[in-house]
Amino acid sequence: MCERKDLPRVGVYICHCGGNISDHVDVEALRVRVKSLPGVTIARDHSFMCSDPGQELILKDLQEGKIDRVVIASCSPSLHEATFRSVLVQAGVNPYLYEHANIREQVSWVHHGEAATRKAFSLIAAATEKARLLEPLEPIRIEATAHATVIGGGVAGMRAALDLANQGIAVALIEKTPFLGGRVASLDHLAPAGESAPDLILRLARSIASHPLISVYTCARVIGFDGYVGNFSLTVEITPPADLAGYCAPGKDLNKLSECVTSVPSKGVLIGKISREHSLEKIKTGAIILATGFKPYTPYKGEYGYGEFPEVITLPQLIEILRNGCGCGSTLFLSGRPIRSMVIIHCVGSRQIPGVHDEGERGYLNEYCSRVCCSASLNAALRIRERYPGTKVFELYRDIRTYGRWQEDLYRNASHNKVVFIRFEPEDPPVVERPSDVSPMPLVVRVKDTLTFGEEVSIPADLVVLAVGMEPNDINDLINLMKLPVGSDRFLLEVHPKLRPVELRTEGIFLAGTCQAPMDVGESCNAASAAASKAAILLGKGYVELDPFVAEVDPEKCEGTGACVEACLRKGAIELVEEERDGRIVRKARVIPALCLGCGACVAVCPTGAIQVRGATLYQYEAMVDAIVSSDAV
Ligand code: SF4
Ligand code: SF4
Repeated sequence: MCERKDLPRVGVYICHCGGNISDHVDVEALRVRVKSLPGVTIARDHSFMCSDPGQELILKDLQEGKIDRVVIASCSPSLHEATFRSVLVQAGVNPYLYEHANIREQVSWVHHGEAATRKAFSLIAAATEKARLLEPLEPIRIEATAHATVIGGGVAGMRAALDLANQGIAVALIEKTPFLGGRVASLDHLAPAGESAPDLILRLARSIASHPLISVYTCARVIGFDGYVGNFSLTVEITPPADLAGYCAPGKDLNKLSECVTSVPSKGVLIGKISREHSLEKIKTGAIILATGFKPYTPYKGEYGYGEFPEVITLPQLIEILRNGCGCGSTLFLSGRPIRSMVIIHCVGSRQIPGVHDEGERGYLNEYCSRVCCSASLNAALRIRERYPGTKVFELYRDIRTYGRWQEDLYRNASHNKVVFIRFEPEDPPVVERPSDVSPMPLVVRVKDTLTFGEEVSIPADLVVLAVGMEPNDINDLINLMKLPVGSDRFLLEVHPKLRPVELRTEGIFLAGTCQAPMDVGESCNAASAAASKAAILLGKGYVELDPFVAEVDPEKCEGTGACVEACLRKGAIELVEEERDGRIVRKARVIPALCLGCGACVAVCPTGAIQVRGATLYQYEAMVDAIVSSDAV
């Protein structure tokens, strides 16, 4: 019998994941057992397979020609599949001769002892059997349109649009309001450096208006979405506001604005005329950046007296008031009333605790920290103390953190400027009420000060300011249209915060700014630049490469029943085409690879077995099932 040199030689690499896996799976016994599986040439284990030394083990075995297929038994493939495939590429081996067995999430996190080791062996036996049957595959290459679309005209959207255009990529910037600038337009000065917010967005808007590669669509929203990475198709609806009054800077006639860029206080920047016509635009685009922003949390009626007492307002409302200047001598005045004492309450609508905070009608709690409200509160308090030293400011907080470069200065300077800090426990929050006795001030805030061992303090106040957190904007229409992933906190969810930040699982769609999580202005611009860079890299080559795991039809077996077309989960991914065979016109199924999800729904209904998903054929699955069934016998 001659020796078959071409028989697949599989290397199996078992990860301990620190103790995540090896605390529950007997890795040494597993490795010995795996070594006896048919086709396995090498079986190794390592504390961290994804580490550089772990990857080098695999690389060396491949380069020395000991193996030509790789099975990794470790964590979920969503984390490190790309890492391990790149090792095969480095070794000059086809990256699709690779299979993954998840023995962490599917084994050690849910089973223990002998049962865990047995299941890990079954999964590795199945993966090995599949690896033996894998064929080299080539990625699918698709032409890409050198055009990107940014949805959202706030500071992140503007930054992303400019960065893309500066890389030579044409950009459509879509904004639902008539203005560019988003929430930053309602700010005055930005902490900690104190630069002017209106100046910042005006500078960005001017650069956008004069950039030949950027087209701005205001009063616009996306109502149609189709296509795939490199070739998306969007339908944009432009709806002029019913009433144009108030959309113009004081002293300017909206009808006479032409191509000028005009700053409208607290609203944003107008670029040119607002369209008077309802219209639909079609945009062909290669990549999409979502920069849909956030909205401030709205306290429910009665939350710290909000909606009950007119003297209770939110921090964004205070910032808006301060913009317009309302001082009289050394004391702040609001609506003609002197504000002699003001209390700012932190963490309103952030870090909410089930069982402690009220879900209210919304039916959810914001359990995350909104990150920017500590700094924003301190910035406002500091400015009031500097401009109106006759106004006392008290800050009531659970924990306080002015993270970020130079932001500790806000805390230090506020302390030096006699802002009084009082810490409370979340289970025992401050109470805002009308004073029961004669008082010079309309409100009193009672709070147990944990810094003085729970002593109850009563603070008479002319004004109570709620430092509200951030919530994602309402973009359910986009979420449904584009099937966007949303986290439990309702912000858009990136693939992985470290391995694939700002990327969505749908290839070609990226995230910028506060649609992803609470961020300050600087961080939003960083995220926007990151998203723009990734989109530019994607489009820069003129084509994109996709994994080849899509359906393919064997025309010899296809009888053109159309069952696959009916079962297909992605519109347009498979179609019936007519062709001539032996002088007859017959119908055959044809897959559009760029649209195919590789889900296999078509495979399940094909009566003749004519359709298979590459890299996951029925034959391979049968072999995996056989391996699992027989694994106890090995
Ligand atoms: S490869 Fe996965 S299982 Fe192994 S150490 Fe890395 S994260 Fe943990
Ligand atoms: S694999 Fe899924 S998306 Fe692709 S053609 Fe089949 S059913 Fe349609």
